[in-house]
Amino acid sequence: MKNSSTTKSLGMFLLSAVLLLTAGIARAQSPAASGVQGKTEVLWLGQAGFRIKTPQGKMILIDPWITGGPKTPPMYKNDLAAIGPIDLLLVTHAHVDHIGDAPALAKMNNTKLYGPADMVTPLTTLGILPADLGHRFNKTGRVTPLPGIKVTAVQAEHSSLLVWKNPATDKLESHPAGEPMGYIIELENGFKIWHMGDTGLFSDMKFISEHYKPDLVMIPIGGNFTMAPDDAAFAIRTWVKPKMVIPMHYNSNPMTKGTLAEFQEAMKGSNIKIVPMTEGETVQF
Ligand SMILES: [Zn+2]
Repeated sequence: MKNSSTTKSLGMFLLSAVLLLTAGIARAQSPAASGVQGKTEVLWLGQAGFRIKTPQGKMILIDPWITGGPKTPPMYKNDLAAIGPIDLLLVTHAHVDHIGDAPALAKMNNTKLYGPADMVTPLTTLGILPADLGHRFNKTGRVTPLPGIKVTAVQAEHSSLLVWKNPATDKLESHPAGEPMGYIIELENGFKIWHMGDTGLFSDMKFISEHYKPDLVMIPIGGNFTMAPDDAAFAIRTWVKPKMVIPMHYNSNPMTKGTLAEFQEAMKGSNIKIVPMTEGETVQF
Protein backbone atom coordinates (compact mmCIF):
# COMPACT_ATOMS: atom_id res chain seq x y z
CA MET A 1 0.00 0.00 0.00
CA LYS A 2 1.52 3.25 -1.15
CA ASN A 3 0.09 5.28 1.68
CA SER A 4 1.32 3.10 4.50
CA SER A 5 4.79 2.63 3.00
CA THR A 6 5.06 6.39 2.50
CA THR A 7 4.02 6.92 6.10
CA LYS A 8 6.47 4.28 7.24
CA SER A 9 9.32 5.81 5.21
CA LEU A 10 8.52 9.21 6.63
CA GLY A 11 8.45 7.74 10.11
CA MET A 12 11.79 6.05 9.61
CA PHE A 13 13.24 9.27 8.19
CA LEU A 14 12.02 11.23 11.19
CA LEU A 15 13.39 8.58 13.51
CA SER A 16 16.78 8.69 11.75
CA ALA A 17 16.81 12.46 12.02
CA VAL A 18 16.08 12.20 15.74
CA LEU A 19 18.89 9.71 16.18
CA LEU A 20 21.37 11.76 14.18
CA LEU A 21 20.62 14.88 16.14
CA THR A 22 20.35 12.92 19.42
CA ALA A 23 19.07 16.09 21.08
CA GLY A 24 15.84 15.84 19.12
CA ILE A 25 13.73 14.40 21.91
CA ALA A 26 11.22 16.97 23.04
CA ARG A 27 10.18 17.08 26.65
CA ALA A 28 7.32 18.54 28.60
CA GLN A 29 6.25 18.30 32.23
CA SER A 30 2.58 18.20 31.29
CA PRO A 31 0.66 16.57 28.46
CA ALA A 32 0.10 20.02 26.95
CA ALA A 33 2.02 19.09 23.81
CA SER A 34 -0.49 16.39 22.96
CA GLY A 35 -1.84 18.26 19.93
CA VAL A 36 1.23 17.41 17.84
CA GLN A 37 0.43 15.08 14.95
CA GLY A 38 2.72 12.53 13.47
CA LYS A 39 4.84 12.03 16.54
CA THR A 40 4.74 9.43 19.24
CA GLU A 41 4.24 10.86 22.71
CA VAL A 42 5.12 8.89 25.80
CA LEU A 43 3.88 9.97 29.24
CA TRP A 44 5.32 8.14 32.27
CA LEU A 45 2.73 7.67 35.01
CA GLY A 46 5.19 5.99 37.39
CA GLN A 47 6.39 2.38 37.91
CA ALA A 48 5.50 0.52 34.66
CA GLY A 49 2.62 2.79 33.70
CA PHE A 50 2.79 4.67 30.40
CA ARG A 51 0.33 6.45 28.16
CA ILE A 52 1.41 6.40 24.54
CA LYS A 53 -0.15 8.75 22.02
CA THR A 54 0.37 7.22 18.59
CA PRO A 55 1.22 9.18 15.42
CA GLN A 56 -2.45 8.90 14.40
CA GLY A 57 -3.63 10.19 17.77
CA LYS A 58 -4.74 6.92 19.40
CA MET A 59 -4.21 6.59 23.15
CA ILE A 60 -2.62 3.42 24.50
CA LEU A 61 -2.41 2.89 28.25
CA ILE A 62 -0.16 0.22 29.76
CA ASP A 63 -0.08 -1.02 33.38
CA PRO A 64 -2.07 1.89 34.84
CA TRP A 65 -1.31 1.94 38.59
CA ILE A 66 -2.73 5.40 39.01
CA THR A 67 -4.88 5.95 42.11
CA GLY A 68 -2.62 3.71 44.22
CA GLY A 69 0.73 4.70 42.76
CA PRO A 70 2.89 6.69 45.20
CA LYS A 71 4.51 8.66 42.36
CA THR A 72 1.46 9.20 40.14
CA PRO A 73 1.15 12.88 39.21
CA PRO A 74 -1.67 14.31 41.43
CA MET A 75 -3.77 15.46 38.48
CA TYR A 76 -4.25 11.79 37.50
CA LYS A 77 -4.07 10.22 40.96
CA ASN A 78 -7.01 12.32 42.14
CA ASP A 79 -9.02 11.99 38.95
CA LEU A 80 -8.80 8.87 36.81
CA ALA A 81 -10.80 10.58 34.07
CA ALA A 82 -7.94 13.08 33.61
CA ILE A 83 -6.02 10.32 31.82
CA GLY A 84 -8.40 11.06 28.96
CA PRO A 85 -10.15 8.72 26.55
CA ILE A 86 -8.31 5.42 26.12
CA ASP A 87 -8.36 3.49 22.84
CA LEU A 88 -6.28 0.52 23.97
CA LEU A 89 -5.59 -0.86 27.44
CA LEU A 90 -2.75 -3.33 27.99
CA VAL A 91 -1.82 -5.08 31.23
CA THR A 92 1.34 -7.20 31.55
CA HIS A 93 0.40 -9.21 34.68
CA ALA A 94 -1.85 -9.26 37.71
CA HIS A 95 0.37 -7.64 40.37
CA VAL A 96 -1.32 -4.61 41.84
CA ASP A 97 1.30 -2.14 40.61
CA HIS A 98 0.45 -3.21 37.06
CA ILE A 99 -3.24 -4.14 36.96
CA GLY A 100 -3.96 -1.13 39.19
CA ASP A 101 -6.91 0.79 37.82
CA ALA A 102 -7.15 -1.15 34.56
CA PRO A 103 -10.56 -2.78 35.21
CA ALA A 104 -12.03 0.58 36.27
CA LEU A 105 -10.57 2.27 33.19
CA ALA A 106 -11.87 -0.48 30.90
CA LYS A 107 -15.38 0.11 32.25
CA MET A 108 -15.03 3.90 32.23
CA ASN A 109 -13.89 3.92 28.58
CA ASN A 110 -15.88 0.88 27.45
CA THR A 111 -12.50 -0.36 26.15
CA LYS A 112 -11.26 -3.92 26.16
CA LEU A 113 -8.52 -4.84 28.59
CA TYR A 114 -5.88 -6.90 26.75
CA GLY A 115 -3.82 -9.18 28.94
CA PRO A 116 -2.45 -12.67 29.57
CA ALA A 117 -5.25 -15.16 28.90
CA ASP A 118 -5.19 -16.70 32.36
CA MET A 119 -5.15 -13.30 34.04
CA VAL A 120 -8.18 -12.04 32.14
CA THR A 121 -10.15 -15.20 32.96
CA PRO A 122 -10.19 -14.76 36.77
CA LEU A 123 -10.90 -11.06 36.30
CA THR A 124 -14.09 -11.97 34.46
CA THR A 125 -15.10 -15.03 36.50
CA LEU A 126 -14.68 -13.11 39.76
CA GLY A 127 -16.80 -10.29 38.35
CA ILE A 128 -13.99 -7.70 38.44
CA LEU A 129 -14.26 -7.13 34.70
CA PRO A 130 -17.29 -7.67 32.42
CA ALA A 131 -16.54 -10.61 30.11
CA ASP A 132 -17.06 -8.52 26.97
CA LEU A 133 -14.34 -6.10 28.12
CA GLY A 134 -11.60 -8.71 28.37
CA HIS A 135 -9.36 -9.88 25.56
CA ARG A 136 -7.32 -13.00 26.34
CA PHE A 137 -4.14 -13.68 24.43
CA ASN A 138 -0.82 -15.31 25.06
CA LYS A 139 2.88 -15.26 24.25
CA THR A 140 3.63 -14.85 20.54
CA GLY A 141 -0.04 -14.03 20.04
CA ARG A 142 -0.52 -10.91 17.96
CA VAL A 143 -3.54 -8.64 17.96
CA THR A 144 -4.49 -5.66 15.83
CA PRO A 145 -6.79 -3.83 18.22
CA LEU A 146 -6.71 -0.56 16.26
CA PRO A 147 -6.07 0.17 12.57
CA GLY A 148 -2.33 0.04 11.90
CA ILE A 149 -1.42 -0.92 15.46
CA LYS A 150 -0.09 -4.40 16.20
CA VAL A 151 0.64 -5.78 19.64
CA THR A 152 2.61 -8.99 20.06
CA ALA A 153 2.84 -10.67 23.46
CA VAL A 154 6.32 -11.85 24.40
CA GLN A 155 7.99 -13.66 27.26
CA ALA A 156 8.66 -12.03 30.61
CA GLU A 157 10.46 -13.92 33.37
CA HIS A 158 8.38 -13.12 36.42
CA SER A 159 5.19 -14.23 38.22
CA SER A 160 1.54 -13.21 38.24
CA LEU A 161 -0.79 -13.57 41.21
CA LEU A 162 -4.06 -11.72 41.56
CA VAL A 163 -4.87 -10.43 45.04
CA TRP A 164 -8.48 -9.37 45.35
CA LYS A 165 -10.67 -8.24 48.21
CA ASN A 166 -13.86 -10.26 48.03
CA PRO A 167 -16.67 -7.80 48.76
CA ALA A 168 -18.85 -10.62 50.14
CA THR A 169 -16.34 -11.50 52.88
CA ASP A 170 -14.24 -8.31 52.96
CA LYS A 171 -11.18 -10.58 52.96
CA LEU A 172 -8.19 -10.69 50.64
CA GLU A 173 -7.99 -13.69 48.33
CA SER A 174 -5.12 -14.86 46.11
CA HIS A 175 -5.94 -16.22 42.67
CA PRO A 176 -3.61 -17.74 40.04
CA ALA A 177 -3.44 -15.30 37.15
CA GLY A 178 -1.46 -16.94 34.37
CA GLU A 179 2.01 -15.97 33.23
CA PRO A 180 3.32 -12.43 32.89
CA MET A 181 4.06 -11.00 29.46
CA GLY A 182 5.84 -8.14 27.76
CA TYR A 183 4.52 -6.39 24.66
CA ILE A 184 5.97 -5.40 21.33
CA ILE A 185 3.78 -2.49 20.25
CA GLU A 186 4.08 -1.48 16.62
CA LEU A 187 2.57 1.91 15.83
CA GLU A 188 1.06 3.16 12.57
CA ASN A 189 4.43 4.45 11.28
CA GLY A 190 6.30 1.23 12.05
CA PHE A 191 7.89 2.56 15.26
CA LYS A 192 8.21 -0.37 17.67
CA ILE A 193 8.15 -0.18 21.44
CA TRP A 194 9.00 -3.16 23.64
CA HIS A 195 7.41 -2.76 27.06
CA MET A 196 9.15 -5.55 28.95
CA GLY A 197 6.70 -5.69 31.84
CA ASP A 198 8.29 -7.03 35.01
CA THR A 199 11.10 -9.39 34.15
CA GLY A 200 14.35 -10.89 35.23
CA LEU A 201 17.14 -11.67 32.80
CA PHE A 202 16.49 -14.36 30.20
CA SER A 203 18.65 -15.04 27.18
CA ASP A 204 15.73 -15.04 24.73
CA MET A 205 15.73 -11.27 25.13
CA LYS A 206 18.32 -11.51 22.37
CA PHE A 207 16.01 -13.59 20.20
CA ILE A 208 13.03 -11.31 20.83
CA SER A 209 15.06 -8.26 19.88
CA GLU A 210 16.50 -9.85 16.73
CA HIS A 211 13.08 -11.10 15.69
CA TYR A 212 10.96 -8.04 16.40
CA LYS A 213 13.59 -5.27 16.18
CA PRO A 214 12.22 -2.78 18.72
CA ASP A 215 13.28 0.85 18.37
CA LEU A 216 12.51 1.81 21.96
CA VAL A 217 12.63 -0.47 25.01
CA MET A 218 10.99 0.19 28.38
CA ILE A 219 12.99 -1.84 30.87
CA PRO A 220 12.59 -2.48 34.60
CA ILE A 221 15.69 -1.58 36.64
CA GLY A 222 14.50 -1.52 40.26
CA GLY A 223 15.76 -4.94 41.35
CA ASN A 224 14.26 -7.33 43.92
CA PHE A 225 11.25 -8.21 41.73
CA THR A 226 12.99 -7.55 38.41
CA MET A 227 16.41 -6.89 36.95
CA ALA A 228 18.56 -4.44 38.87
CA PRO A 229 20.44 -1.67 37.01
CA ASP A 230 23.53 -3.79 36.28
CA ASP A 231 21.59 -6.71 34.80
CA ALA A 232 19.26 -4.37 32.91
CA ALA A 233 22.29 -2.62 31.39
CA PHE A 234 23.81 -6.02 30.55
CA ALA A 235 20.63 -7.05 28.74
CA ILE A 236 20.43 -3.79 26.81
CA ARG A 237 24.11 -3.66 25.83
CA THR A 238 24.66 -7.34 25.11
CA TRP A 239 21.39 -8.77 23.87
CA VAL A 240 18.70 -6.20 23.11
CA LYS A 241 20.70 -3.34 21.52
CA PRO A 242 17.75 -1.02 20.77
CA LYS A 243 18.13 2.55 19.55
CA MET A 244 16.68 3.96 22.76
CA VAL A 245 15.78 2.81 26.26
CA ILE A 246 13.49 4.18 28.98
CA PRO A 247 14.26 2.83 32.47
CA MET A 248 11.13 2.05 34.54
CA HIS A 249 9.94 0.18 37.63
CA TYR A 250 12.06 2.02 40.15
CA ASN A 251 11.48 4.92 42.55
CA SER A 252 8.03 3.68 43.70
CA ASN A 253 8.72 0.91 46.20
CA PRO A 254 11.35 0.86 48.98
CA MET A 255 12.17 -2.74 48.01
CA THR A 256 13.17 -1.77 44.47
CA LYS A 257 16.31 0.18 45.24
CA GLY A 258 17.83 0.38 41.76
CA THR A 259 18.37 3.92 40.56
CA LEU A 260 18.56 5.73 37.26
CA ALA A 261 22.11 6.89 38.14
CA GLU A 262 23.22 3.28 38.62
CA PHE A 263 21.72 2.31 35.28
CA GLN A 264 23.39 5.27 33.55
CA GLU A 265 26.72 4.32 35.14
CA ALA A 266 26.35 0.70 34.00
CA MET A 267 25.55 1.92 30.46
CA LYS A 268 28.62 4.17 30.25
CA GLY A 269 30.42 3.95 26.93
CA SER A 270 27.38 2.58 25.10
CA ASN A 271 25.92 4.57 22.21
CA ILE A 272 22.39 3.36 22.99
CA LYS A 273 20.40 6.42 23.97
CA ILE A 274 19.00 6.44 27.49
CA VAL A 275 15.80 8.50 27.77
CA PRO A 276 15.52 9.23 31.49
CA MET A 277 12.04 10.32 32.56
CA THR A 278 10.43 11.66 35.70
CA GLU A 279 6.88 10.70 36.65
CA GLY A 280 4.41 12.94 34.83
CA GLU A 281 6.89 13.84 32.11
CA THR A 282 6.05 13.54 28.41
CA VAL A 283 8.64 12.74 25.75
CA GLN A 284 8.12 12.82 21.98
CA PHE A 285 9.73 10.61 19.40
ZN1 LIG B 1 5.15 -7.83 39.12
